Amino acid sequence: MHDETKELLRRSMRYITAIPREAVIGFSGGKDSVCLAEVMRRAGHPGRLVYSATGIDPPPMVQFIKREYGDRVTWVRPPSNYYRNLALWGPPTIHTRWCCEALKHFGSRVVGTKFRVLGVRREESTHRSKYKVAEARKGMVLYFPILEWKLWHVWDFIESEGLPVCSLYDEIDRVGCVICPYHTPKQHEWYRTQYPGPFRVWERVVKEWWLRTRDTPNRKGERRYMVHNTPEDFMAAWFIKACWAVKGKRDLAENAKEGR
Ligand code: SF4
Repeated sequence: MHDETKELLRRSMRYITAIPREAVIGFSGGKDSVCLAEVMRRAGHPGRLVYSATGIDPPPMVQFIKREYGDRVTWVRPPSNYYRNLALWGPPTIHTRWCCEALKHFGSRVVGTKFRVLGVRREESTHRSKYKVAEARKGMVLYFPILEWKLWHVWDFIESEGLPVCSLYDEIDRVGCVICPYHTPKQHEWYRTQYPGPFRVWERVVKEWWLRTRDTPNRKGERRYMVHNTPEDFMAAWFIKACWAVKGKRDLAENAKEGR
């Protein structure tokens, strides 16, 4: 193992000594979760691994968790279903990830503790770069023991310690849910060829949501102006940028002028 990884491991294990014993560990089966679970185990923390079944996880990930982690993982099922939420709120975006809150974070809320440990890393986003190793949020206390680890530290640790990883990493460098706002267009294409079924359902539900949103007057009783002209345009833009307002203000103004 590289010296830098060893130093990070020592630091993470020191942080872990301050985490209450009843804390649970959010576990998705991804590489960061595998790394976190091992660091917690080495630090002697008895926290349970909690996996929240989102319903749109890739099947090889679900099989990997069952095979490699078995009884170490507590499975929880969120009361709300991904597609029901999708029909209500539309697709999650990189700015409004209702999916994490409703499906993933739900897991450790139901296991009777307010202390939660997550394998989040600063490097993953600008937003996460501002996190502290322990934070109080919405009545919970969150701990991020591998916050300072970079991607290569995670792989260095996994490889040098011979930890198991899901076979999906042989094909793709980022594994999330089958349809995720963080996937790049190339990753979406890869997932679409592997799992066409969820994509068909997703597109049908999003189309219905888009048309319903367009046809429902706003609070003032006025017709809504949609950024895109059709649900197909909207979905094409989402798969590029996972953002609703991909078109600029000029397009909006033109839509308004033309009464769209
Ligand atoms: S992996 Fe992606 S789709 Fe799944 S909960 Fe997280 S952000 Fe949402």
